Amino acid sequence: MSWRDGRNGTGGGTGETGGETDRAGGSGRGGWSGPGGSRRRRYGALAGVVAVALTAGGCGGDGGSGGGGGSGGGRAGATDSAHPSASPGGAHRAAPGVSAATWRKWGLKPLPAAPEPPADKPVKLSATGPVPVLAHIPTSKKVVFITVDDGQEKDPKFIAMMRDLKIPITLFLMNDAVKSDYAYFKPLQALGDHIQNHTLHHPVMNTLPLARQKEEVCGDQRILTERYGVAPLLFRPPYGAYDARTRTAVAECGPRAIVWWRESMQIKNMQYQTADKKLRPGDIILAHFRGPSELKGTTMTEMFANMLRHIREQGFAVARLEDYIQPPAR
Ligand SMILES: [Zn+2]
Repeated sequence: MSWRDGRNGTGGGTGETGGETDRAGGSGRGGWSGPGGSRRRRYGALAGVVAVALTAGGCGGDGGSGGGGGSGGGRAGATDSAHPSASPGGAHRAAPGVSAATWRKWGLKPLPAAPEPPADKPVKLSATGPVPVLAHIPTSKKVVFITVDDGQEKDPKFIAMMRDLKIPITLFLMNDAVKSDYAYFKPLQALGDHIQNHTLHHPVMNTLPLARQKEEVCGDQRILTERYGVAPLLFRPPYGAYDARTRTAVAECGPRAIVWWRESMQIKNMQYQTADKKLRPGDIILAHFRGPSELKGTTMTEMFANMLRHIREQGFAVARLEDYIQPPAR
């Protein structure tokens, strides 16, 4: 199976594209509905394998933090604004000084500005030991985090949109999808967005022996580090599927956490894991670099605008995931 199979899945109950988003259909705590749930999937044959893995893995390791949700809020200091795009990984507030006219240009009303990044990060990663699995960030602040996976679609308008709106995103890049044009993602990195690991070839990790899993994680880690100058700190398993070997492979290849998600963005609709269909503080949202061929004619920027409308309607700001995660002390 190629990674495209997942991307072209016929998707969720909304009839929109599904892809790997369907993998997180459960509660994120082993409550995934399992094979044959309510969703149609082209790759349904894999669902059993994945479901077992998710149950076994618990997928509930979304802690791994030192607790302290909501303990942040310390001012990061005025220095942030003095270095607007100094380096990848620089801390930036979301949407500083974006005018209403700029939002309108993209068919949007302004989102709330994100609070200052917490001085005391709610998630603290260690340099050694098992990697935690994060599906949300413990915080009481009304923020959510947007992650964008794979990298196949490379729409220049999306770069323009991010320059205009300054929405922080985390990129989980998969080498097969990005190798045709690594440079496309550099303007996003220059905006402060972090580039993270999503394997070389997008396999279902928990079907592979440890050595193959390590090839996937270490290979993407090496290439992304070479191309973007920063070693990824985080890893997202394709389809959300992982097992104990994945955690070993990730730890041995360099990333210090596995990042899962709680909501996934389709074309117009957000797919929620809870019946009330509401975002909660600290939720991690999954989206993809997808274009009209995968989105039934909808463009990447239209999909992204739809996602921002869902977030705005619920009164949330978009914060930068890495601003809430303390890397290991070296
Ligand atoms: Zn993916």
